[in-house]
Amino acid sequence: MHDIFTADDILSGAEAFSRVTPPARLGVFGDPVEHSRSPAFQNAALDACGLGCRYVLLHVKPDRFQEAVRGLGAAGFIGANVTIPHKAAALVAVDEACDTSRRCGAVNTIALRDGRLLGFSTDGPGLSRAIREEFSVDLHDLRVVLLGAGGGAGRAIAMQCASEGCERLVLVNRTAEKAQGLAAELESFFRNDRLAGPAERLVAIPFDDDSLRRELAMADLVINATSLGMRHSDPPVLHPRLITPNLMIYDTVYTTGQSRLLQDASAAGARGANGLSMLLHQGALAFSIWFDREAPLEIMRAALLECVKTSNA
Ligand code: NAP
Repeated sequence: MHDIFTADDILSGAEAFSRVTPPARLGVFGDPVEHSRSPAFQNAALDACGLGCRYVLLHVKPDRFQEAVRGLGAAGFIGANVTIPHKAAALVAVDEACDTSRRCGAVNTIALRDGRLLGFSTDGPGLSRAIREEFSVDLHDLRVVLLGAGGGAGRAIAMQCASEGCERLVLVNRTAEKAQGLAAELESFFRNDRLAGPAERLVAIPFDDDSLRRELAMADLVINATSLGMRHSDPPVLHPRLITPNLMIYDTVYTTGQSRLLQDASAAGARGANGLSMLLHQGALAFSIWFDREAPLEIMRAALLECVKTSNA
C-alpha cells in the first residue's frame, strides 16, 4: 500500500509530505490513482540512487487539479507525473510545455525549475523505446496500424511514429473524425515518398474488419491504444482471424496477466508484448528529466515486475 495525498495536503504546504520518511517530493496525479504502479518503480529508483526523497500517490479530482499543480512548489516538490484524467489539463497548468506536449495536447511529466512548472510528454518516447526493446526494431522502419488513434495515448503514439518517420501509419479510431483530424495534422510528416508502391504513407480508416484486413496485409506492427482490454468483459479489440503470424502486436494495456489481444496473437503465432515496457520507459524518461541523470532502468524494471507479480498473487 502506497501513501495517498490529496489536493488539501498539497495546498497546506510541505508539512504533510515531510511527515513521511524520506520526505515526499514527487508523485503521480490521478483520479482514481490507487491502481498506479509508478510508486513501486520510482521509489526503487530513488532509493537505489540515494536521492533521499519519496514518490507518492496524489488523488486529486479534476476541479482541484489546477490549484494542486500550482501548489507543488510551495509543497517542496521536484516534479510529478500525471495520469487519467488530468493529462490535457496539465498542459494548461504548466508555465511552459515542450514541443511534444504541445503537439500531443497533453503533459504526463511536470518538473519544477526555478519556481516554474515545465511540462513534458514521455509517453510517445517511452513507447518508442519499448518497441525497440521488445521487437529489436525501430518505429522508423515499420508500417504501423494504430488502434485507438483518437485517445490521449493514441495521439502521443501517432505523434511519435510521425516524428520518427515511420514507413507507414494507419490511424484507426471508433470515432472516425478524430482519426481523420489527426491524419490532417500529421500530413506534413509523410510528404516524402519513402515507400515503393502505390499505398499512401498515412491513412485514417474506419474501425471495421474489412478495412482492417486490407491494411493489416501491409503492416508490420499493430499497436492497441484503445481502452479495450482493461476489463476481462471487454469485447476483442481485433477479430482473432485478422491476426497473422508475421505481425508484431503491442498492447499498451497493462492488465495483470495476458490480455485477450495478446492471447489471440500468441495463438496466431504472432509476436506480442504488453504495455509494461512502455510504462517503465516513460517513467525512466521522467526520472531523467527530474534529476538530469540516467535512470537505473534494471532496478526499476525489477521493482515493476515484482509489483505486478504481487498484485497477480
Ligand atoms: P482515452 O483518451 O480515454 O482514449 C480511449 C481510446 O479508446 C479512444 O481512442 C476510444 O475511441 C477508444 N475506445 C474506447 N472504447 C472503445 C470501444 N468500445 N471500441 C473501440 N474503441 C474504443 O484513454 P488513453 O489515456 O488514451 O488510454 C488508452 C489506453 O492506453 C488504456 O488502456 C491505457 O491503459 C493505455 N495507456 C498505457 C500507457 C503505458 O504506459 N503502457 C500509457 C498511457 C495509456 P473514441 O475516440 O471513439 O472514444
